[in-house]
Amino acid sequence: MGLEAALPVDGILTTQLNRVINWARRSSIWPMPFATACCGIELMATASSRFDLSRFGAEVFRFSPRQADLLIVAGRVSVKMLPVLQHIYKQMTEPKWVISMGACASTGGVFDTYAVVQGIDQYVPVDVYVPGCPPRPEMLIEGIMAIQRIIDQDNIPYDGQGRRLPLQIAVEPTHQPSVQPIDVSIGATG
Ligand code: SF4
Repeated sequence: MGLEAALPVDGILTTQLNRVINWARRSSIWPMPFATACCGIELMATASSRFDLSRFGAEVFRFSPRQADLLIVAGRVSVKMLPVLQHIYKQMTEPKWVISMGACASTGGVFDTYAVVQGIDQYVPVDVYVPGCPPRPEMLIEGIMAIQRIIDQDNIPYDGQGRRLPLQIAVEPTHQPSVQPIDVSIGATG
């Protein structure tokens, strides 16, 4: 039962062209995975049946940058890999988006060494930072939805010279962590 069942078959729908374009654009985000480490496993889980990224129209992972508009960097990026990352970003179609998934991509994580990039946003514009080590699939989905909301609102920021500005949205955790350490009673009788 689709939209055509609720509308008269010979009906006419009027709308603005940019609303249709934004609707199509946000409903068909095609990610390009740049998964280099353990965060990539969570990225794979996000696309699989349990979390089902296709509910958001974003499950069509492309391994050709020219067919992708969302770069998801999942894992640490070494200095040696950086030119490849930048090359892939340049080859992607406009308008394009970047998600920095996990602590390593955003800050280098625990790999505070000369060989690891200490934050990919120094080299490619990042739209959404998804925190965690690793982030859960729900967090990544929240990051993708944040981009979809911006597209929906026709709120893509430009710098005045036709270049898009990075959104720089940080996904916030929605849970309250328990107080640590948790009290334990040894030998308690009940
Ligand atoms: S943030 Fe954690 S889980 Fe993700 S790549 Fe780094 S070490 Fe692995």
